[in-house]
Amino acid sequence: MGTTLVDLENTYTSGVYGKRPVAIVRGQGATLWDAEGRSYIDCMAGHGVANIGHGRSEIAAALAAQAQRLITCPEIVYNDVRARLLERLAQITPAGLEHFFLCNSGTEAIEGAFKFARLATGRTGIIATLRGFHGRSMGALSATWEKHYREPFAPLIPGVSHIRYNDLKAAEAAITEDTAAVIIELVQAEGGVHSAQEAYVQGLAALCRERGALLIIDEVQTGFGRTGSLFACEQYAVEPDILCLAKSLAGGVPMGAICLGTRVMESGRITRGAHGSTFGGNPLACAAALATLDILAQEDLPARAADLGAHAVERLRAIQSPLIREVRGRGLLIGIELTKRVQPYLEELCERGVLALPAGPNVLRLLPPLVISEAQLDQALDIITDVLTGTSRSNQTAEQAPAENPEVALLQSMLTIPSLSRQEGALAHHLVEQAQQLGLHAYVDEVGNFIASTHAELDARQPVVLLGHMDTVPGNIPVRIENGLLYGRGPSMLKGRWPPLSVQPPVWPVRLPRPIPLLL
Ligand SMILES: *Cc1c(COP(=O)(O)O)cnc(C)c1O
Repeated sequence: MGTTLVDLENTYTSGVYGKRPVAIVRGQGATLWDAEGRSYIDCMAGHGVANIGHGRSEIAAALAAQAQRLITCPEIVYNDVRARLLERLAQITPAGLEHFFLCNSGTEAIEGAFKFARLATGRTGIIATLRGFHGRSMGALSATWEKHYREPFAPLIPGVSHIRYNDLKAAEAAITEDTAAVIIELVQAEGGVHSAQEAYVQGLAALCRERGALLIIDEVQTGFGRTGSLFACEQYAVEPDILCLAKSLAGGVPMGAICLGTRVMESGRITRGAHGSTFGGNPLACAAALATLDILAQEDLPARAADLGAHAVERLRAIQSPLIREVRGRGLLIGIELTKRVQPYLEELCERGVLALPAGPNVLRLLPPLVISEAQLDQALDIITDVLTGTSRSNQTAEQAPAENPEVALLQSMLTIPSLSRQEGALAHHLVEQAQQLGLHAYVDEVGNFIASTHAELDARQPVVLLGHMDTVPGNIPVRIENGLLYGRGPSMLKGRWPPLSVQPPVWPVRLPRPIPLLL
């Protein structure tokens, strides 16, 4: 693993994250690569963000085009891309949700939802559920159940209580004329992958309506195809008063949305100045969201999640292992409850090339990109089966070769690093890391040239390479491999030997096993 990179992060990070010992530097579809070129099957999707997969050229192209037109544009003026996204959200979200507040994360969507609920009802109480997760800022954290997340930060906002999930009687007892809103997830994801029962959700919606409280549904994780329909709400035939969205909305670019229903809007209390956000609804995120929604529809990814999820759950339920207590899931949001702590199994999976998540102390959670191929999902399920049944791992370690040859991976990584004139440093340092992994001595000299040699002492007889002037002509060709061709716009390098005046042809330390067609 690129140690300098790991050392740097360890030195300068806040330290709040428990990290796996991998440095992920690139992704394509459901495959991730670490700094050493080793590939992993991604069953995390960036915590449910990468539903459309990694390395999507459509998103890169939409971002590049929008970045050249306009990146920032607060909502105090109108904007073309934002207008189109708002219209699209009204078309795709459940009936009754026709007004939207755009923000930048799931937590912000929850914060805003609470503010709008208090405003619209003139009440203060918020009822959340046991095992629920809604984010980490003070308001959202007040509704999150896990006490390790909450206790160090007390006192949290007053008026928030927690009731049992899937227990309508508890809701009946808790909802009063002080209740502004009840907030639930339709599948509690972080809390262990527990689905709501349909009768519970229906009953809760009716109770809320009867008693003048609002129903907030948190689809930050379940939204955008994850559970087998565009929104999990559709499977429950429920129309929330407020729907919170984020994670996968903009294909990986930070964005959240608070969808406001009729009861909120008709309160007449959502007035000017009630809420705001500098970055909310910025054209860059809106462009990414529009491209993401196109992909979800064109590739029918919700249906794909339903099919692949059913297949995965069937295979997981067939595993004979005393370690497995229960397999639960909806679409490609899958939980495997173990009889033991999950952490060591996550570590073993990581060693075996599968990146998965926990959901509480003893649930293994699978959250792959919805574009994962059947073959790749089956490969992940094979490895999970091995790990959970204790099949020997020694005879499996050889399979960890990168999914494609390392030369192509190197070229592809070079194409994804922008190196406009005078901004070549990132590329030069990337080449140094790559060369060092090939066992070469490499460094960037004082004028920015990349220099590599088989010997530490540079000398005219040693095979060396010097690359300078590594700039890329401006413009964007999305990097992608299609039918064996690698597309992209990359650096046009001045190559040379050391000493620089030598007329010898350049020596490139990478063997090319067969010609790689390049269209630049
Ligand atoms: C991830 C998540 C959040 C918080 O979203 P962030 O973007 O991390 O702030 C809120 N609710 C649910 C259900 C989530 O899964």
